[in-house]
Amino acid sequence: MDSAKEDCFIVEGKLALPYQYFAGRTGSRFLISLRDKKKILGLQCKKCNKVYVPPRTVCEHCFSNISENWVELKNTGIVTGFTVIRYEEPHQPVKPPYILALVKIDGSDTPIAHIVKGIPLSKMRTGLKVKAVFAKKSTSTIMDIDHFRPDEKPRFELGFTYDELEVGMSASFTKTISETDVYLFAGISGDFNPMHLNEEFAKTTPFGTRIAHGALPQSLIAPVLGMKLPGLGTVALEITCRFKAPTYFGDTITATGEISEKIENKRWVRMTLSWTNQKGEIVAEGSALVMPPAPMPKEM
Ligand SMILES: [Zn+2]
Repeated sequence: MDSAKEDCFIVEGKLALPYQYFAGRTGSRFLISLRDKKKILGLQCKKCNKVYVPPRTVCEHCFSNISENWVELKNTGIVTGFTVIRYEEPHQPVKPPYILALVKIDGSDTPIAHIVKGIPLSKMRTGLKVKAVFAKKSTSTIMDIDHFRPDEKPRFELGFTYDELEVGMSASFTKTISETDVYLFAGISGDFNPMHLNEEFAKTTPFGTRIAHGALPQSLIAPVLGMKLPGLGTVALEITCRFKAPTYFGDTITATGEISEKIENKRWVRMTLSWTNQKGEIVAEGSALVMPPAPMPKEM
């Protein structure tokens, strides 16, 4: 037996080490303002106009004493750099993974390091506009700003995803077909058939007057599929249409699409289409096969 090893008797224990440190005159004012007023303060160099956040007493450019030139800043800023923290350490304020970013508060020239939440890691980018979210409970530290969150409106509001769609959901678009619409459509399609453009010729047809091109009322289903149901991001795969009655100039056409079937293996939907006029008469009927927009990535 190794007696030296036997003598080595280890007792596990813990030492609590409460401590205090002075944040300094400048740091104190910064932290007290965060805690009591939820306001972000900076110090400005009158000579260089540079605004420092967190505040520092000497301008790093001209070495002027700027300790009294307090300025109040907004609680918004822009991300100038970031990293994703993936390792775990006991001192971290939140559980990894999280985004640690350099945020330049609007009106300041120096960034502060802080946490950004509310955006998927994959979507994080420099240039992101953010807004401070203040902590509900003060800790009298920089964590009185709990985190920053994106302060930008989504650029596009995508339509219903496959999972959000249900059989029976419907949407419509209504428009009055004017003579101008018919002339414009003739120009777009190249269809200058006199039954659409020449009243005297049209009198000799079974309709007795000019009628709109069939594809004109039919096209009113496009805003339904692409902008309402399923909505933005939809890809139309097939549209069928059987014309039942003519559309006269001045008729108000309502195009309606209704979800009739969900095709699980493809994640496509089939829709029943109908076009009616102001009298409730069916102008056309048909169906559509569409691919709804893919879901947006989940927020953190
Ligand atoms: Zn300066």
